[in-house]
Amino acid sequence: MKLPLEKAKDLKCWASKGSLPWKACSPFLENARAVLIHRPRNVTTHKLSEKYDAHVSVTNWCGSTFSGGKHFTFLDAVPEGKLLCARCEEKAVNAGIQSSHELTGRHVHLGGVVAVQLCCVEKESK
Ligand SMILES: [Zn+2]
Ligand SMILES: [Zn+2]
Repeated sequence: MKLPLEKAKDLKCWASKGSLPWKACSPFLENARAVLIHRPRNVTTHKLSEKYDAHVSVTNWCGSTFSGGKHFTFLDAVPEGKLLCARCEEKAVNAGIQSSHELTGRHVHLGGVVAVQLCCVEKESK
């Protein structure tokens, strides 16, 4: 499943030659170096010259950015046991994009920057 993306606003100052904004991508992004799953807002491939490999930069709805090549993965669903960035979810929904529940057809746990699960946590019974 692909969701439409916004164009990165800072593209001009990048000498947009060699920068290719993506039109759409899967709705969730997992970064091997981050705890939370994020929702990408815009994605651009930068191919600066023949000498360098292309790299991809991503801005998420919460404002965090990733760039690089290999350590992130676009996903159609949030993997079992992972938490979705609560700020990404809130901002994407406010912008009129489907919620993660609508996208995946099931409940997706939300988390904050320190990756504390905010819902569905079982209380210890006495
Ligand atoms: Zn986020
Ligand atoms: Zn939950």
